[in-house]
Amino acid sequence: MTTALTTRKKDYDAIVVGAGPAGAGAALLMARAGMRVLLLERGEYPGAKNVSGAAFYGSSILHEVIPNFWEEAPVERILTKRTLAFMSPESSLSVDFQTKSFAAPPYNGFTIMRPRFDRWFAGKAVEAGATLVSSTVVDDLLYDGANRDRVVGVKTRRDDGDVTADLVIACDGVNSFLAKKAGMQKTFTSHEISLGVKEVIGLDQTVLEDRFRLTGDEGAVAEYVGDITAEVHGGGFLYTNKDSLAIGVICQLSSLAEHKQRPYELLERFKAHPSVAPLVRGGKPREYSAHLVPEAGLHMMPKLFRDGMMVAGDAAAFCFATGLYIEGINYAMQSGFAAAEAAILAHQAKDFSSASLARYEDRLDARHVLPDFKNFKSAPGYVNSERMANLYPALITRGAEQLFRVDGHGKKKIMAIARQTLKDNDVSTLNLIKDLYAGGKAFGW
Ligand SMILES: Cc1cc2nc3c(=O)[nH]c(=O)nc-3n(C[C@H](O)[C@H](O)[C@H](O)COP(=O)(O)OP(=O)(O)OC[C@H]3O[C@@H](n4cnc5c(N)ncnc54)[C@H](O)[C@@H]3O)c2cc1C
Repeated sequence: MTTALTTRKKDYDAIVVGAGPAGAGAALLMARAGMRVLLLERGEYPGAKNVSGAAFYGSSILHEVIPNFWEEAPVERILTKRTLAFMSPESSLSVDFQTKSFAAPPYNGFTIMRPRFDRWFAGKAVEAGATLVSSTVVDDLLYDGANRDRVVGVKTRRDDGDVTADLVIACDGVNSFLAKKAGMQKTFTSHEISLGVKEVIGLDQTVLEDRFRLTGDEGAVAEYVGDITAEVHGGGFLYTNKDSLAIGVICQLSSLAEHKQRPYELLERFKAHPSVAPLVRGGKPREYSAHLVPEAGLHMMPKLFRDGMMVAGDAAAFCFATGLYIEGINYAMQSGFAAAEAAILAHQAKDFSSASLARYEDRLDARHVLPDFKNFKSAPGYVNSERMANLYPALITRGAEQLFRVDGHGKKKIMAIARQTLKDNDVSTLNLIKDLYAGGKAFGW
């Protein structure tokens, strides 16, 4: 893109940095409200830098903004099947959920390929009147006031690079450079961040549909916990696209370092597991990618607004990664929409002060973003604990093995199997009760 940037003062009402789901969503709503919006993206096009192949849940959120979006958006499959699998090196025990009710509009979710989907979504912001400038890295913020009191624009890595606006919304993803520059985000610890590596594997469409027992456009997602990441805290996932699978592992950075494991090797281990290998057999690797995931939720959330600036999406740690769920796209969109709603009110009042932008939090509440992160604030720590990440998935599969083994030594009752399995693995009843209680607090009540 060669669109010239201008250095005239306040040439835009708002600058959005990053054209992922958070940034495109924010730009779309502000442009629709008549604001002059500049959307800056460092990739060659929106989505070019984003890890492809993903499950986009909560399609009703986008349906409210773009009715029946699935009729024009590049979606892959409608998600009607979900599996959670507990893994040991040689066994797996899965809980499968499947419903036809997710197969009806507005649907519950879709698999998408991020490069195509993000490009389409940012295109909707452009259709609404936003100016998109790609291949442009934002390096810093511009400030007004002796103490850098108010953010008044951005510095881009271009010759005509300084651009001013009443408001900057940082949607620049995990490890947001801008939120750090603005003093809103602290440096993360390696406990708070995970590394996701993903491979997209091409498969003949009929083979894929037979293998996953899929009908028509329906699709499946599966999450895996336990031994697939060896002793590293993390998990795996497998999504079905039209004629490909997205398969990957997400591992806590500190745990990778502690156990000196390489994520790509863990992905190979995952693909070789006896219950996974038949699913990927014969597939042709199409692409590899890696990206960070902000996993600590509320504990790593930055200051969300200051004079002239707001932070949304992964940049604000709105990624709901709690074992049972890996949902970042929907929360990125919701927080982008919430930031836009606060920006529109600020624009109408001509007041971009921190007090005015505090409405962002109200909008995040109304859109159930902050309440979800508050309600599940202990979940990320819980699922990444040693016993939950490794020990219990192994116990569950060992218990199942005992339950289903027929060897002429007589059948044991379930409680006897459970007691023996706990004893064999040195898990005290007290620890089990504590973990059940912590699990209840994290997910149950
Ligand atoms: C392996 C993996 C699997 C995942 N699976 C899922 C899933 O199945 N479902 C789900 O909901 N979530 C998933 N997530 C999380 C999800 O990808 C993120 O939560 C989501 O992309 C966040 O959207 P965002 O718009 O905030 O940030 P991003 O999508 O990261 O977009 C940020 C944008 O900002 C641009 N940018 C960054 N810095 C600059 C700069 N300085 N100047 C200009 N542009 C800049 C980037 O190029 C990028 O386009 C997954 C994450 C990973 C790593």
